[in-house]
Amino acid sequence: MARQKEAVLPEEQIFYPPERFARQANVKSREIYAKAQASPELFWALQAERLDWFRKWDKVLEWDPPFARWFVNAKLNACYNCVDRHLKTWRRNKAALIFEGEPGDTRVLTYWDLYREVGRLASALRKLGVEKGDRVAIYLPMIPELPIAMLACARIGAPHLVVFGGFSAEALRDRINDAGAKVLITADGGWRRGKIVPLLRNARLALEEAPSVEKVVVVKRIGQELELDPQRECWYHELVAEESPCSPEEVDSEDMLFLLYTSGTTGKPKGIVHTTGGYLVGVTATLHMTFDLKEEDVYWCTADCGWITGHSYLVYGPLANGATVLLYEGAPDWPRPDRFWQIIDRYGVTIFYTAPTAIRAFMRWGEQWLDGYDLSSLRLLGTVGEPINPEAWLWFYQYVGRGKCPIVDTWWQTETGMHIIAALPGITPLKPGSATVPLPGLKVDVVDKEGNPLPPGEEGLLVIKEPWPAMMRTVYGDEERYVKEYWGRFPGKWYYFSGDGARKDSHHYFWILGRVDDVINVAGHRLSTMELESALVEHPAVAEAAVIGKAHEIKGQAVVAFVTLKDEVFAEIKSGKRSWQAMEEELKAHVTAKIGAIARPDAVYFTAELPKTRSGKIMRRLLRAIAEGKVLGDVSTLANPEVIAELKRRYGDQE
Ligand code: ATP
Ligand code: MG
Repeated sequence: MARQKEAVLPEEQIFYPPERFARQANVKSREIYAKAQASPELFWALQAERLDWFRKWDKVLEWDPPFARWFVNAKLNACYNCVDRHLKTWRRNKAALIFEGEPGDTRVLTYWDLYREVGRLASALRKLGVEKGDRVAIYLPMIPELPIAMLACARIGAPHLVVFGGFSAEALRDRINDAGAKVLITADGGWRRGKIVPLLRNARLALEEAPSVEKVVVVKRIGQELELDPQRECWYHELVAEESPCSPEEVDSEDMLFLLYTSGTTGKPKGIVHTTGGYLVGVTATLHMTFDLKEEDVYWCTADCGWITGHSYLVYGPLANGATVLLYEGAPDWPRPDRFWQIIDRYGVTIFYTAPTAIRAFMRWGEQWLDGYDLSSLRLLGTVGEPINPEAWLWFYQYVGRGKCPIVDTWWQTETGMHIIAALPGITPLKPGSATVPLPGLKVDVVDKEGNPLPPGEEGLLVIKEPWPAMMRTVYGDEERYVKEYWGRFPGKWYYFSGDGARKDSHHYFWILGRVDDVINVAGHRLSTMELESALVEHPAVAEAAVIGKAHEIKGQAVVAFVTLKDEVFAEIKSGKRSWQAMEEELKAHVTAKIGAIARPDAVYFTAELPKTRSGKIMRRLLRAIAEGKVLGDVSTLANPEVIAELKRRYGDQE
């Protein structure tokens, strides 16, 4: 298929909901916005009816800024809502989890199976001495035992902290210590690109300096010969063998459901605290609205459970809605770059939620990898994690969605717990690169430094002006940080500050410009990293780009671009058909033509990879430090440290 290039600004391109989609959508009328705005509390109370409560609330919201309590004095259990209540209906025999391991092994768990597994582990954890309120660390690959462990903790009221299986021993140790976890659930290993990730080995290293952990439960995933330490370690399968499901603990709406450390794009990770009632209402309701979830969907979210996306939109949201959830253990390019398309074809996936970083990788590998796969089951696509470049949006729309699937770009954060800005796919016209408008019941705005609202067209800070049910309640062990960092930015106004910059357009659509700390200021002109990078990605040679502002004596900052080229272009340069220098000049001219002379990069650096967090986000702060020859700061969440060493060697400031 030929690539279609259109020379229009993304803001001018509008994609209306396909009529067939609109007709069957969960939300068909814009009335929902007006109704929610008239009384957000009533709106959320109605959404709360989606759940089963042991005791209803006395009050929907108690707002003592910046502290919120939602569904005050209500009692419920998240695990009961995700599992037990479905057993009373025909869903008992519905597939809850469809699992595919990286080596190709598969497993299907019905809701009944899930109940048995979760309930038995919950009983076993109780016997290990885990009581309500005790923290349990989970360090597992993406296998069914991961959601099972999360739900088992929820069942007994023990907050979990999931640590991404790709993290190192030190990262695990720090998180365990910060949370004071009593039990760790891990595995003998996991599969990643055909290699074994030595989880137990890392865990043992971590525990050398994590005294709070009393017991370690080990899932047998790899099956190598292995001796466990009988004092502290036990096999998962032996532990649960004799157990039967315990009854779910009745917890308060405001009891902690989990603790999760942010991905660390901007600095040191912090423990974000989420509670039970408001969180579960928020994720259950938003998934139903934004992804138009239906009983018969096969829903696939490619995020790892180590991130908030995995918590809210792989485990709690989908299972509370009684959905069929696909779970895949491995990498998208193993054994070949067509693995995802094979999975969609094989299981008839209908909703596919992934990240811009993955989409840019698919573009780089080329659309030929989609050939021969039947993707016609897909009816909705979603993205999250970073602003999606319009070029990547259009590729996703055309090649994966075949021009028929709405793309719901969801802006939200670990801290927000649930989607905040996102389309309602049956009614919201889409613009590639914009997350569109805030969801019903949410008050989001773009403001200046003093917190005054800005008119459309002007760039400012993205804030949320009213509390919402799934909002974080505090930073674990650091309330001051919660108050100052998130709510203390505008004295006299209790606005939640996201850390992101944004602009509204004339239709009041939100355009996320990237993190405020990353905004570039060239001779008094503010340039957004997102816009510069999107311009670069639009160039046919470019696969991915990261732009930073490097300190400059005269201009304040100068634009420096780090660029990854498409595989075939790289091959042409290697073979001498094109030169690096000509490529650099071409890209500089391209940015000038797209945005203006002020944005012309001073330098374009080519690199095989960009430094990313383990959740796939570009770490511009490290690129800036390299270009300016500064200390790198916290790098514990970096996925590819070798890239940093290489970039430093080649482009590091020599001063
Ligand atoms: P840390 O807060 O530790 O630096 P992080 O911000 O990367 O890490 P997350 O909570 O996983 O951790 O990511 C939220 C951020 O991701 C948002 O603040 C925003 O910058 C970006 N983001 C997420 N989704 C979108 C989206 N759809 N469009 C634009 N940006 C997004
Ligand atoms: Mg953040």
